[in-house]
Amino acid sequence: MSNIRYVQSLSPKQKPDASNLEFGKTFTDHMFLLDYTEGQGWHDPRIVPYGPLTLDPAAMVFHYGQAVFEGLKAFRTKDDRIVLFRPNKNAERLNVSNERLNIPHLDEAAFVEYVKALVSIDREWVPSAEGTSLYIRPFIMAIEPCLGVRASKRYLFAIIMSPVGAYYKEGIHPVKINVESQYVRAVRGGTGFAKTAGNYASSIKAQEEAKEEGFSQVLWLDGKEHTYVEEVGSMNMFFKIGGEVVTPELNGSILAGITRDSVLHLLKTWGVPVTERKISIREIYQASLDGKLEEAFGTGTAAVISPVGELHWQEHTMTINQGKIGELAQKIYDTITGIQNGTVPDTFGWNAVVE
Ligand SMILES: *Cc1c(COP(=O)(O)O)cnc(C)c1O
Repeated sequence: MSNIRYVQSLSPKQKPDASNLEFGKTFTDHMFLLDYTEGQGWHDPRIVPYGPLTLDPAAMVFHYGQAVFEGLKAFRTKDDRIVLFRPNKNAERLNVSNERLNIPHLDEAAFVEYVKALVSIDREWVPSAEGTSLYIRPFIMAIEPCLGVRASKRYLFAIIMSPVGAYYKEGIHPVKINVESQYVRAVRGGTGFAKTAGNYASSIKAQEEAKEEGFSQVLWLDGKEHTYVEEVGSMNMFFKIGGEVVTPELNGSILAGITRDSVLHLLKTWGVPVTERKISIREIYQASLDGKLEEAFGTGTAAVISPVGELHWQEHTMTINQGKIGELAQKIYDTITGIQNGTVPDTFGWNAVVE
């Protein structure tokens, strides 16, 4: 885009071996920056060498956490095009988060242009090996130096990018998940539906405790009654019970995942019965006792599909599909990853090509 200023990196880094990458530790040569100043709006879009930001220690984000983010990926297709997966949905969701955090609206078409421009410049960083991608992290933070508790008058929008290796290197292994009975992630009226830093800040303790006990993630229940299933870490949840797929309805405390939306689209297209509704952990436990809990899986940009092999709730252990990936989860995984790498026709028009 013509109005994006470009300062080229004079010391391009060596590209890492994509088979051996730790998630989110290696970054590309450039980053995108855009300023917001009250009265002036968003201004000065620029792509500059990747590097540290200089912020005033009084920058409001450090004190009151006014920050939102997004996560999406660029893929190199088998015929060597570079595509983004549904980036317009990230633009939309960023504004949903902005609205809740009282951060100014960002033009959605411009968001997609900025992401494309940065990916295009660092296109050599989009890996090509099976299952690999370039993870893109757009984020906005309040940067006005001020300790008063109010909305900031200045913001910084940034995009950084990180090549990621295959999530499943040795086939898809179902995970063990603990149903969290003490802590809660979000309540209705709070910020659960926004992709904001604070939701994660308050979830880390439960996550670490679960890890110590040998679980890979926690499954959150609703904050009020501790009864209804919400979501897992950074994934939405689906359960297949007696032939029907159920996912918790978007109730204000659940993040509206783009993968979740894609899965709902696919299931409806395939004629698989699917409902979005409240589902209690008791109902899932009962289904498990009755031998009707056929599959459980999480959905999110990082893994696409993460099957759950074991679910622990209080003193109960539910083993799902003998700890193996279910047929439906496998089909969804193959279809979405196939669309992303260009081996399955993109009938929904989900891929956005980076020129
Ligand atoms: C980002 C996120 C998800 C998954 O969203 P996708 O758009 O599918 O990646 C689910 N839950 C939470 C809390 C998240 O932050």
